[in-house]
Amino acid sequence: MWQVYGQEHILKQLESSLKQERLAHAYLLVGPPHVGKMTLALNLAQAVNCVQGVGVPCGECSQCVRIVQGRHADVRVVGVTQREEGGPTRTVIGISDVKESLHQANLKPFEGSCTVIIFDGAEVMSIEAANALLKTLEEPPPQVLILLLTANEEGLLSTTLSRCRRLELLPLAKEQMVKKLMAEHAASAEIAERLALLSRGCVGWAINALNDPQVLEQRVADLEQIKEICESGLHERFNYANELAARFFRDRESTKELLYLWLRWWRDLILIKEGAEEYVQHPDEITHLRLQATQLTTPQIVGFVKALNQTLEALDSNANARLALEVLMLNLPGVKIRV
Ligand SMILES: [Zn+2]
Repeated sequence: MWQVYGQEHILKQLESSLKQERLAHAYLLVGPPHVGKMTLALNLAQAVNCVQGVGVPCGECSQCVRIVQGRHADVRVVGVTQREEGGPTRTVIGISDVKESLHQANLKPFEGSCTVIIFDGAEVMSIEAANALLKTLEEPPPQVLILLLTANEEGLLSTTLSRCRRLELLPLAKEQMVKKLMAEHAASAEIAERLALLSRGCVGWAINALNDPQVLEQRVADLEQIKEICESGLHERFNYANELAARFFRDRESTKELLYLWLRWWRDLILIKEGAEEYVQHPDEITHLRLQATQLTTPQIVGFVKALNQTLEALDSNANARLALEVLMLNLPGVKIRV
């Protein structure tokens, strides 16, 4: 069965393509982090290799099992998070990664019936790598399925985008998420409500947070630090920018998530300014948010939201991370909340 949740609009379309054997050679899976892109990609790899026949993957045959265990010879995941133990974090999907995987694509499938190549974080592909991939997208070999996963499709070449069929994964509605966490993951109503709000509809994040208390603890600590930095002087801000840059080299994804947390905090400030408090994502911080909002003008808040978005873009396009983060901290409007 499909493991991906809440994406019926996509599954319907895929099921019908699978049954008619009219699947595209390449798909672009777009959606925010933890919304289920990799789950869907692996499910699709199962669907085209399942020995029970095309359609919904059975999840039980040797093909389906080996794929989900990451042991299937014809299903390859290429991304920057795959790295050698103890090695540095990679920042781009390079030409050699793409060439190597495309070489495999030109061979006959080894143990299954279809080779599947999944590019995780396709927006960080180098230009050379993207161009090499483009050639294959233009003339795809038979029995190959290419899946590009991205949270930021603007980071991809338009020529690449035009050669893939686009599937957009949508965040889950809050009520649906609460129901799922309670029914399938034994969450209490209170925890389910809280995680549903914090996860912004991304099931993977909510389940991680449920299974690992450290996820929520880290989030509380990150938020405390954000509040502190908003009130700090230039020296502390620069230290913070350096800390973030170092963290970015170790772990790009967690650093970007932290910047998204900043973004949500500042969006809450806009909502308060606009008199739409009921939509804030940090209702338990409402007193603090109100105090901070009174000290800022709407253009100041909007300006900083823009700066945050520009920083995220710069990090995706491999700009100098330290410089980008320092500039961001310079743009942070100062406030004084605690006395
Ligand atoms: Zn199967």
